[in-house]
Amino acid sequence: MKKLGQNTICTHIGEVQDEQFKGAVSPMYLSSSYEFLDVDVKRYPRYFNTPNQEYLSKKIAALEHAESAMIFGSGMAAISHMFLAFLNKGDHLVVQNTLYGGTVNFIKEEFPKYGIEYTFTNGYTASDFEKAIKSNTKLIHIESPSNPLLTITDIKAIAALGKTKGILTSIDNTFASPINQNPLDLGIDMVMHSATKYFGGHSDICAGAVASSNENIEKIWNVSKNLGGSLSDMTVWMLERSMKTLGLRVKAQTKNAMKLAKWLSKHPEISKVYYPGLKSHPEYKLAKAQMKGFGAMLSFELNSNLDSYAFQKSLKLIKSSMSLAGVESTFISPHLTSHSLLSQEERDKVGISNQLIRFSVGIEDVKDLKTDITEAIAQIKK
Ligand SMILES: *Cc1c(COP(=O)(O)O)cnc(C)c1O
Repeated sequence: MKKLGQNTICTHIGEVQDEQFKGAVSPMYLSSSYEFLDVDVKRYPRYFNTPNQEYLSKKIAALEHAESAMIFGSGMAAISHMFLAFLNKGDHLVVQNTLYGGTVNFIKEEFPKYGIEYTFTNGYTASDFEKAIKSNTKLIHIESPSNPLLTITDIKAIAALGKTKGILTSIDNTFASPINQNPLDLGIDMVMHSATKYFGGHSDICAGAVASSNENIEKIWNVSKNLGGSLSDMTVWMLERSMKTLGLRVKAQTKNAMKLAKWLSKHPEISKVYYPGLKSHPEYKLAKAQMKGFGAMLSFELNSNLDSYAFQKSLKLIKSSMSLAGVESTFISPHLTSHSLLSQEERDKVGISNQLIRFSVGIEDVKDLKTDITEAIAQIKK
């Protein structure tokens, strides 16, 4: 068969066939105990190979153009198992300075216990990464677009750097999703996702995934079977169901985000908009070259005379939420959440002002989202 399109992969690849009753959707196998004697595969939930786990992995691998994939109990389980599979005592990790907060905590709090060294880059250009490499560097990890300022890292350049130096490369592709970005095609070795976000898409699932070559996934599996961190089959099944609409959802959200970014950038009460799809974004050309769509995450700054807390409390439709990527639009103040542990001075240095609001754009009608924002601003100006 010809190479399938993304929506066809979302709908059809990685289905468990219902041989017995010919039902239209995958049956859910809840068994935690499988035949042991004379079988090809010894199945067990923590071996990541129950029927539902095995088949959903195929859908994720197909979407990321990978040979293989694994599903985990959370995005952090995916990232921690991936790191621990390739970093031994005495090894060194080069990691992007702008990174998901949980990943930063994992590195800072856990790596010293394992004797793994790390360096956060000073910036996100390829030369910033090259400068951080040491003789014992075994992995380079990037995030693009990044949280919350939507910076774009040159994926091809980082992949090439890794290849020249014989260092593995990995990316957190959560913000883009495979619908908008396929880093393996650009030469990156491993791609991970918080499936809690766009894969789930309805703010009711916590899961994670890694996609890579058969060889790399086998190495991760060897560590993961010891660490645990597998996802329950009930949630695997729900995730499969959610992923059928991944393409539809993400494309609709991305379209909305572009419209809203343009509108916000012309809004008199908004001083700045961060969205890689705007020509004013410093890495617009790079984003256009390496992404299929600009994604549905953006950030903006309210004018300094407006209280960002009061603004969010005045919204009627858009919720304030820690998480992101659901079909419903959400806002969050990074200075109160992901970056609350930094001092004001440290936040100023990385460009996280108290006026900054991160916007996870949903599938609602854009006109209603605009009205919500306009009315909330009018409310606090009274
Ligand atoms: C949420 C998130 C994670 C962590 O995923 P969990 O499912 O919460 O463990 C990692 N990276 C990014 C970019 C995220 O947004």
